[in-house]
Amino acid sequence: MNAFTYRCTDCGRRYSREEVRYLCPECGTSYRPGIPLVGVLEAVLDDGAIRSSFDRQNPDWQLFCAVEREFHPPLAVGNTPLARVDRLGSELGLDRLWVKNDGLNPSGSLKDRASFLVVAEARRLGEKRVVAASTGNAASALAAVAASAGVEALIFVPEKAPRAKLVQMVLAGATVVPVRGTYDDAFRLSLEYTAQRGGLNRNTAYHPLTIEGKKTAGLEIWAQLGYEVPDAIVVSVGDGVILGGVHKAFVDLRRAGLADRLPRLVGVQAEKSDAIHRYVQTGRYEDAAEPSTRADSISVVCPSNAHGARRAILESGGATLTVSDAEILEAQERLLGRTGIFAEPAAAAALAGLVKVQAGPGRFGAEEKVVILATGHGLKDVEAPLSRISIPPAIEPRLEAVRV
Ligand SMILES: [Zn+2]
Repeated sequence: MNAFTYRCTDCGRRYSREEVRYLCPECGTSYRPGIPLVGVLEAVLDDGAIRSSFDRQNPDWQLFCAVEREFHPPLAVGNTPLARVDRLGSELGLDRLWVKNDGLNPSGSLKDRASFLVVAEARRLGEKRVVAASTGNAASALAAVAASAGVEALIFVPEKAPRAKLVQMVLAGATVVPVRGTYDDAFRLSLEYTAQRGGLNRNTAYHPLTIEGKKTAGLEIWAQLGYEVPDAIVVSVGDGVILGGVHKAFVDLRRAGLADRLPRLVGVQAEKSDAIHRYVQTGRYEDAAEPSTRADSISVVCPSNAHGARRAILESGGATLTVSDAEILEAQERLLGRTGIFAEPAAAAALAGLVKVQAGPGRFGAEEKVVILATGHGLKDVEAPLSRISIPPAIEPRLEAVRV
């Protein structure tokens, strides 16, 4: 493990890992549920140790990890494939396009990475219960990882979460509390719960190690490209924590002298869940009042990591854009039809965004290395794509009836 300190991303104060759990004690006092998080902490690693010890022939990823290996849950998380997708790339005018298929994590989404590290931290702290609010994926990730580690998962979830995700949580043995309301209501309730009744809160960005866990997706992209930084990574954005995590990977690499630049981050939001996009455009934060989208995993009124996501976009020289539900579902079909990768609507939003970028004046050149981060598996929600396709009717089992 790398010795690290927490640094407040707002005021810059430093804390030891034993002094704080969630937000900066100074800045966090101005946070209240219903606004983007204030005083989010980031882990500052010992760059010198990484620089002197990291060996590309035999990489020790523990150098980038904030929790000792002895506390890690047994479930194998991450190390998902980075697939080169030439057929899709040639349609988009890109000779070097990849998809990082994070739907192949054990619970079917990238969120396993964050749950893994927070459950490890709970074991280190001796906490028996981990609490989260989620639109579904973070909850099913927590349920799976907690089950493997023998830790209790308590989950607040909006009652409209897709059934496949609810089934995952309940089957894994989590305590599931469906909440009448939005994800934001569930988020607020989970904060009140841990403040008054205890347990470790895994809420995204609220617990700083969620960002560190998601960072591993970026580290893997770097390693899988032969220790090279891609020109751009396209990420769908809800709360802005995956975006922040991927950015942190390359910030850590640059601080340690292992990378000389940051990839441009392209953040893609659903049209009606676009708070971070508008924040990047105008510099003024405002909620997405009616975040209705079929891409449930990126549907959010008030993104918890809005400030961090905006900083990541600007620092990386990237951009944000929005896509419609129709564009998202079309991209989902195109991704599966060209690459064999089945991504849930929220994950396919990234491709929808790239399609839009490539049709406009700011398109990437053919030689640029572009990675689409596919954050969740398509089997998570099979209802959404059913609006676009029809399942053929059954025939009699006679050859004459087969009309193809
Ligand atoms: Zn602070």
